[in-house]
Amino acid sequence: MRTVPGLSGQFANQTNLKNIKMAYKITDDCVACGTCMGECPTGAISEGDIYKIDPNVCIDCGTCADACPMGAIVAGE
Ligand code: SF4
Ligand code: SF4
Repeated sequence: MRTVPGLSGQFANQTNLKNIKMAYKITDDCVACGTCMGECPTGAISEGDIYKIDPNVCIDCGTCADACPMGAIVAGE
């Protein structure tokens, strides 16, 4: 598991520090319901046949993964 160095302040408070990896990813289980997009605090998620997470914008907070009814969002490696 890779860790993200230098995470501090508000981001640290929003992040499960035991689970820091790369950006979260949306898998083929996505049914494009849009729930995750409305929950993401940084606007990292965009629409599509399968929704996508921009790894440069995602802060690994995990909110989308908790919100997804399909369990389609997983922590990256
Ligand atoms: S909440 Fe889950 S199923 Fe819905 S758009 Fe997001 S990833 Fe896809
Ligand atoms: S982990 Fe957080 S920041 Fe990243 S896409 Fe999901 S809700 Fe947005």
